[in-house]
Amino acid sequence: MKVPFNRPSLVGREFEYLQQVVENRHLSGNGTFTERCQRHLENLIGSQRALLTHSCTSALEMAALLLDLRPGDEVIMPSFTFTSTANAVVLRGATPVFVDVRADTLNIDEAGIEAAITDRTRSIWPVHYAGVACNMNEIVRIARERGLTIVEDAAQALHARWWDRPLGSFGDMAAFSFHETKNIISGEGGALMINDPSLIERAEVIWEKGTNRLRFKRGEVDKYTWVDIGSSFLPGELTAAFLLAQLEKGQAITEQRLRIWNRYHAGFADAEAKGYLRRPTVPAEAVTNGHIYYILLADAQRRDRALEALKLAGVNAITHYVPLHTSPAGRRFGRFEGKLTTTDDISARLIRLPISFGLTVEQVDYAIGAVIDVCERV
Ligand SMILES: *Cc1c(COP(=O)(O)O)cnc(C)c1O
Repeated sequence: MKVPFNRPSLVGREFEYLQQVVENRHLSGNGTFTERCQRHLENLIGSQRALLTHSCTSALEMAALLLDLRPGDEVIMPSFTFTSTANAVVLRGATPVFVDVRADTLNIDEAGIEAAITDRTRSIWPVHYAGVACNMNEIVRIARERGLTIVEDAAQALHARWWDRPLGSFGDMAAFSFHETKNIISGEGGALMINDPSLIERAEVIWEKGTNRLRFKRGEVDKYTWVDIGSSFLPGELTAAFLLAQLEKGQAITEQRLRIWNRYHAGFADAEAKGYLRRPTVPAEAVTNGHIYYILLADAQRRDRALEALKLAGVNAITHYVPLHTSPAGRRFGRFEGKLTTTDDISARLIRLPISFGLTVEQVDYAIGAVIDVCERV
């Protein structure tokens, strides 16, 4: 049997909506499908404004522009994240400050945030790893006390919650990804959620190449012109149409993901008790969306041997994140203090297991069996 790591699935009306876009003769951005996606996201998150983007990467770049980050400014983020979190900051000439993660959730360590704050710190960018919430009570408290903004890298976190609130609703802004490896997809795709209303008008301008075209479209000005810096951040309607079909099935997609996540979790309870591996921790306050199922093996050698053996067994499992503070660009552009012990430790021991909408129970059970077998041998 072969178990692919991820396989994108059609879940509903994708083809029908794509056809409608072509028939509407509106292929560029900001048409009816874009607007429907944005309303959907605003309602789901309780956000003031959603803007679709080409990716989570570009949504984070928009956030950095909106914060007016400049050389000398510092932004606190985990080292255990994807490059896009840091790139957005570096592209403004500002400095990402890498802090360690917690050993339980692999999310940014709140004590590390407080220790990393200087008089140059402007913003905190928590990343909800695996669709499990960071401790948002603490992070919001720190940001308020120190007068810092928050931008959530919620790339993996659509449909996940902290207490009764959706992730993506805590920051001044938040960025989602609809990349085909995420839960809800449009190939490439993303969204910037704007929760601070004072940022909306400028966000609309930056989104539309620095013009006030959105105000023109709403009839608020009689011609549109260049008013600020900006770029082309809006995706075309084909992407939005595909995304709308997926968003409409968001609940079902999340439930399916969670069924697989729970099957893995139950399947590995025994292996964890025997000390072969450690399963993910989801704090009582957090509701996950089942984005990633990972396991931690005892050490790096066992992890690497297990990955090899799983490959031979047809199970496509992968590692996650070379920590940014150890990467060539992270060393060049970022700053960190002391040792990021937990980050170094867990990134060497982590295995991500196959999970996607179309995975069958047989495939999941086969993967569970293969992992247990491999763990006993390595
Ligand atoms: C996937 C991901 C991104 C990038 O998303 P794209 O839509 O591919 O740009 C950024 N941050 C995190 C944490 C991610 O998992």
